[in-house]
Amino acid sequence: MSPPPVDFFEASLGTSDSAVSSVLRKEFVRQEEGVELIASENIVSRAVLEAASCVLTNKYAEGYIGRRYYGGCEPSDDIERLAIERVTRLFNCPFANVQPHSGAQANQAVFFALLRPGDTYLSLALDEGGHLSHGAPVNISGKWFNPIHYGLDKTSQRIDYDALASLAAEHKPKLILAGGSAYPRIIDFARIGSIAKDCGAYFMVDMAHIAGLVAGKVHPSPLEHADVVTSTTHKTLRSARGGLILSKDEGIGKKINSSVFPGLQGGPLMHLIAAKAVGFGEALRPEFADYARAIIDNAQCLAQTLLSGGYRLVSGGTDTHLVLVDLSAKQINGKDSEESLERAAITCNKNSIPQDLQPPQTTSGIRLGVPAVTTRGMGLAEIGFIGEQIVKVLDGLASHGSAGNGDIEKEVRADIIKLCKRFPLYRHL
Ligand SMILES: *Cc1c(COP(=O)(O)O)cnc(C)c1O
Repeated sequence: MSPPPVDFFEASLGTSDSAVSSVLRKEFVRQEEGVELIASENIVSRAVLEAASCVLTNKYAEGYIGRRYYGGCEPSDDIERLAIERVTRLFNCPFANVQPHSGAQANQAVFFALLRPGDTYLSLALDEGGHLSHGAPVNISGKWFNPIHYGLDKTSQRIDYDALASLAAEHKPKLILAGGSAYPRIIDFARIGSIAKDCGAYFMVDMAHIAGLVAGKVHPSPLEHADVVTSTTHKTLRSARGGLILSKDEGIGKKINSSVFPGLQGGPLMHLIAAKAVGFGEALRPEFADYARAIIDNAQCLAQTLLSGGYRLVSGGTDTHLVLVDLSAKQINGKDSEESLERAAITCNKNSIPQDLQPPQTTSGIRLGVPAVTTRGMGLAEIGFIGEQIVKVLDGLASHGSAGNGDIEKEVRADIIKLCKRFPLYRHL
């Protein structure tokens, strides 16, 4: 017998598709009961979530405001105008393109606008804190261009700016790219900007990880120094999932626009542009600066707790939302640590450390970030507690081998779930 027909416009997801709906329920419980320390993740407001599933998902709006290839685009124009007006105010620059589907697409669009295949550019090496889309051999940014990587000073584990300047003088790059996904320190944008000027290169900053800190004015803005700035919108910025390109140069802006569309993408994801606009609106409110400040305080607290527990941090600490733990002296690896912590309801990711002797599938580090737990309202007391639990689990791993200490994991898991119950997520879901 076939099941009774469902009402197409009225049936809820739970009624019309129990298979998908039950997995989503499971994911909600996972998010609510666990401590999320993946540095690139965050938790959006109910308002952003609502906008992300709005009726604009039905709309094609190829093109730009006032110049669309389809009819019926007036509301889409209004939404995109709101998003651009808010984000340019937030970062104090005249140009924004809010259409990139993701951070990696935003980077591709800049390369497509400013470089030709085979051109040379400089970027931070992936295993020293860079990003896949900054010239990894497996990525289009590495295959179709000629990336030269700068790295860190071996002692300070901060960017070696002198070596960067020498590379720039030697290779005469068309573009210098700054930014990364596992670099816990403030980058000297002024310094790299002046190196770029000296060799006639464009200066591009990918601020995907730190955009929310810049918006909250707890981190220097790259916009004063860079020709073009890319970002994701869903990390510390806490808006909908997607990408963003900013510039203070309207001429570069023009090139970026045609490179995003029709160069790289088709129709913009208008529902996500609506949700981006909501997130940008939230970031303009004074509470967001408090949030950004709390991220820094929490990250400092986590760093201090781990150091006190006997763990080494790459560069010795952090200026941002993340810490990179160097596990090499403890004879444990990143993969086992990630898995052991996950069994204890603490989610993070294994991460290569500078000069890592382990392959990328194993690594000698873990990356921990506090944007998501800070959004839940956790403060110094909770972060200190979480840091202590991490030390407990990792110590257990160090003394009990790669299978971890099951009893400690179980005990920590129970305490973490109890903690998380005090900081509930969306009550309407
Ligand atoms: C996360 C990240 C990206 C990629 O963003 P996606 O939306 O996952 O494509 C690009 N650059 C940096 C520095 C990042 O951290």
